[in-house]
Amino acid sequence: MKLSAFGRKFTADAGITSLMDDLGNALASGDDMIMMGGGNPGQIPAVQDRLTEILGEIAADPEAMKRLVGVYDPPKGEKQFIAALTDLLNREYGWGLTPENIALTNGSQAAFFMLFNMFGGDFGDGLRKHILLPLAPEYIGYADAGIAPELFRAVQPDISFTGAHEFKYRVDFDAVEVTGETGAICVSRPTNPTGNVITDEELTRLEEMARAHDIPLIVDGAYGTPFPSLLYVEAKPHWNEQVILCLSLSKLGMPAARTGIVIASGEIVKALSGINAIMNLATGSFGAMLAEPLVRSGEILSLSREVVCPFYKAKMERAVTAFREAMGDDCRWYVHKPEGAMFLWLWFPDLPVTSLELYQRLKARGVLVVSGHYFFPGLPENDWRHRHECLRVTYSQDDERVAAGLRAIAEEVKAIWREA
Ligand code: PLP
Repeated sequence: MKLSAFGRKFTADAGITSLMDDLGNALASGDDMIMMGGGNPGQIPAVQDRLTEILGEIAADPEAMKRLVGVYDPPKGEKQFIAALTDLLNREYGWGLTPENIALTNGSQAAFFMLFNMFGGDFGDGLRKHILLPLAPEYIGYADAGIAPELFRAVQPDISFTGAHEFKYRVDFDAVEVTGETGAICVSRPTNPTGNVITDEELTRLEEMARAHDIPLIVDGAYGTPFPSLLYVEAKPHWNEQVILCLSLSKLGMPAARTGIVIASGEIVKALSGINAIMNLATGSFGAMLAEPLVRSGEILSLSREVVCPFYKAKMERAVTAFREAMGDDCRWYVHKPEGAMFLWLWFPDLPVTSLELYQRLKARGVLVVSGHYFFPGLPENDWRHRHECLRVTYSQDDERVAAGLRAIAEEVKAIWREA
């Protein structure tokens, strides 16, 4: 099979595809694996009950059923959902939005693909622009989303220690360089894989840099604010025309509905909808229609703050306690300050094996995590050991299984030190 440059680029062995294959194969192997690798949300009864109820109401109403499955939505997404979200965000935060500021996509992953390639890549006359990731490590799902090669440029973080076994990454503003070749700045907040939440001050400084260069600041709020609010520290919801805020219904508990939400200037939304029309014709209505009553009433915010956030916060606290008890003080270990999302980011300084080898040893004993080295897209190869010393562990699933997995990690790390 002969393929174009595009075909070759997107069929080459991408980090995310090999990772998803590995997770999928482990799941399909039938072995009783402890799955702490993926980003699947937990099952929250209160959310599921509400969605079941709404689906029942739609199913009982022929007009609503027709909208759910029988008509194409416009390329920018389901109108009633967008109208309800516009009202909600204006009411709560005074953002002054119109429906022209919101587009829906088939999952936010699709939005990132379109946005990165709208603002990064070939600009003609030999000018190539990159997407700046000011705080590595960053979401692996960005890594292969560029049509142009080497689309991302990432910046190594500052590390500060926030407890005996706890650290936090901060943006190293001395190293963040926005140039005429920067097409956009992008951060996930909270960050996948670390659970970091960049502060309001960091966000303001990044926005100032974006404004000074007339480029957008893309804020990936897949886990963030205003919903689904997997946030255990204060973080202000923020939007203005400099910002492209990407939200998602996935981590609220609807990943299969594939609903991403982009809030941006009218010009950007129009461009994005045009690309969406070419790629998808229309956006799926399912997630939007299911969530619309929650948005209209504002319940999406109260559910996020009062149900979803406490659910994950309790899981995070149980996971940290389990790991602390299992590790003790025998060897050096740190966990990134868990400020949000559904991951613990574990750091084992000077561990005699790489994180990839540790991942393989854990897989062999039935515990699936993700090696941290995948999460540095755009960071040039250098001798920074740290990138091979971390693991990402998902704690969204059953607490007992998560605790058992964390105990296995502790045992394996201690065994590696004993062998050394
Ligand atoms: N952004 C981050 C940081 C994520 O972790 C994910 C998925 O795990 C996404 C975006 C994409 O989510 P979705 O396409 O389901 O909206």
